[in-house]
Amino acid sequence: MKQKVLVIGSSNTDMVVKTEHFPKPGETVLGGTFLMNPGGKGANQAVAAARLGADVRFVAKTGNDIFGKQAREGFRKEGIDISFMTETAELASGIALITVNAQGQNEIVVASGANMDLHPADIPELAFENAGLALLQLEIPRETVRWALQQCAGRNIRTVLNPAPGAPLGPGFLDGLYLITPNETETELITGITVDSEEALERAAQHLLGSGVQNVIITLGSRGIYLASEHFTGMIAAPVVEAVDTTAAGDVFNGALLKALADEAPLEEACRFACTAAAISVTRMGAQSSAPFLHELHSYNE
Ligand code: ADP
Repeated sequence: MKQKVLVIGSSNTDMVVKTEHFPKPGETVLGGTFLMNPGGKGANQAVAAARLGADVRFVAKTGNDIFGKQAREGFRKEGIDISFMTETAELASGIALITVNAQGQNEIVVASGANMDLHPADIPELAFENAGLALLQLEIPRETVRWALQQCAGRNIRTVLNPAPGAPLGPGFLDGLYLITPNETETELITGITVDSEEALERAAQHLLGSGVQNVIITLGSRGIYLASEHFTGMIAAPVVEAVDTTAAGDVFNGALLKALADEAPLEEACRFACTAAAISVTRMGAQSSAPFLHELHSYNE
């Protein structure tokens, strides 16, 4: 049976300008092309899951402005249930100002705006109804994440936390969590362990399991993932591809993982599915726009 996936998180608009070089303080650089893309980790993960066929409900908060309206329009087109998204007139929608230089490096400034105004009072009980799985990140207030995880626990909803952007987590945060999916940097920030060997990965995973989470996935970029679960512990390699843009690889991985888990796939199988989806996404430019559709994975596996 297909379970509903509840994603609670951020929605941003990424404003990208390509330039020859980054401006120094006070300098004006005449830039090249301008691109405006939908982004935000919550939104990216919701879209990735929906494109692969998951039944997704996305809870987020935007400002009462053109960016919020465009974001909603985008979610509707992706077939995402946004009936519990809210709007504030007090704050602008979340914006990421991204400058990319000729070497492909980027500088990013995020104005979280309405994302940091998503409070428990904005999320009615009905938003949790019929959800089988919930996926959260850390681009909304910490207290909202903690509260939502507790709400899910009380309703037998399996919870997955993608602890990004990385930050140390307080005591009790991971208690009862079904799964945590940090990348290497986030793993180090949470556990204090630098994951520079398989032995260190095992130690970091044990540390996380000891904090009350049932399963651990540490994502390792082009190397794939380290999974620590009841039935399987070890590395799962990523498909070898020619990467052109790894932006949002983690978001596609998480969205795809939830899609497979919602179809009741065993965790190890869900990981392989998510690695394939993420590998496809890094072969093309963009964040949300690089998330693959289900038919692309079928043709990829053939
Ligand atoms: P994040 O984007 O959050 O920093 P990672 O860089 O670890 O996370 O990437 C998440 C997942 O995306 C990886 O575990 C892997 O499955 C996939 N991935 C990332 N980069 C590549 C790559 N160059 N080739 C194939 N798969 C990749």
